[in-house]
Amino acid sequence: MSEMSHTPWRTVPTVMLTIMMAVVIAMPAIAEEEDYAERRIEMVEALVAAEIISDEAVIEAMKQVPRHRFVPGGQAGSAHLDRPLPIGSDQTISAPSIVGMMTEALSLEEADRVLEVGTGSGYHAAVLAEIVERVYTIEIIESLAVSAEERLAELGYENVTVKYGDGYEGWPEHAPFDAIIVTCAPDEIPEPLVEQLKEGGRMVIPVAEDGWAQTLYLVEKIDGELQKTDLADVMFVPLTREPR
Ligand code: SAH
Repeated sequence: MSEMSHTPWRTVPTVMLTIMMAVVIAMPAIAEEEDYAERRIEMVEALVAAEIISDEAVIEAMKQVPRHRFVPGGQAGSAHLDRPLPIGSDQTISAPSIVGMMTEALSLEEADRVLEVGTGSGYHAAVLAEIVERVYTIEIIESLAVSAEERLAELGYENVTVKYGDGYEGWPEHAPFDAIIVTCAPDEIPEPLVEQLKEGGRMVIPVAEDGWAQTLYLVEKIDGELQKTDLADVMFVPLTREPR
C-alpha cells in the first residue's frame, strides 16, 4: 500500500520534465510556422498592391495554403519570393504572381468543378481547392503525382483528386468542367479539353504557338464558340505526352 501511494509522486517530476521538454522542442517549430504565415501574408499583400489579384476568394486562398510545404525542404526559405522554384524531375512550381493571375482569370464560383493539367507540387491544386467544391488534377510524372497526392492528403485537402496520366486527354469521367487550368504549355489548345469545358466555362492555358514564345490565354466557351483573350507572355514547361 505504502509503495502504491509514493510511486506516483516520484513520477511527477519526470512527467513535468517530459512536458517541459516537449514544449521546448515544439516552440521553435511553432515560431517557424508563424514566421512562414507572416511571410505568406506579405507575399499576398504584395500581389494585391501590384493589382495582380483582387478577388477576395483568391486572396484568402493564397493566404491559407502553406506554400513552403510544397517546395523541397532546402527551398522553403525562398517559397514566398515571387519566382518559380524547382520541385524535382526538371519541373517547377510557378511563381505566386502567375498562380494568382491564372486563378483570378478563371472567375471561380464556390460550386465549380475544376480540372487542372500539370499537378506538379500540388500547390495550385490546393489554392483552387480552397475556393471551389471539387478539383481534379492530372500529372504525367508518376513520382510527382504520388508525392503531390500524399502532401495534399496530409494537409487535409479532401476535395482534390490526383491522377497519374496524360492530361491532354482531360478526364472524361468527371467532365464537363466549369473551369480548366493548364500549367504546362502545349503547341495548341487540346481538343479533348475544349470538349470537356462546360458551356459558359473558362479555361486558362499557356500555348507555345511560336517555338519558345508562349502566350497565356483565357478561353471562354460562349454559345459553343471559343473566345480567346491574350493575358500575358509566359514561360511554362512544355506539355509532354509520354507518361514517366
Ligand atoms: N501547377 C504546378 C506546377 C506545374 S509545372 C504546381 O502548382 O506546382 C507543370 C507540370 O505539368 C509538370 O509537373 C509536368 O510534369 C506536368 N505535365 C507536363 N505535361 C503533362 C501532361 N500531358 N499531362 C499532365 N501533366 C503534364
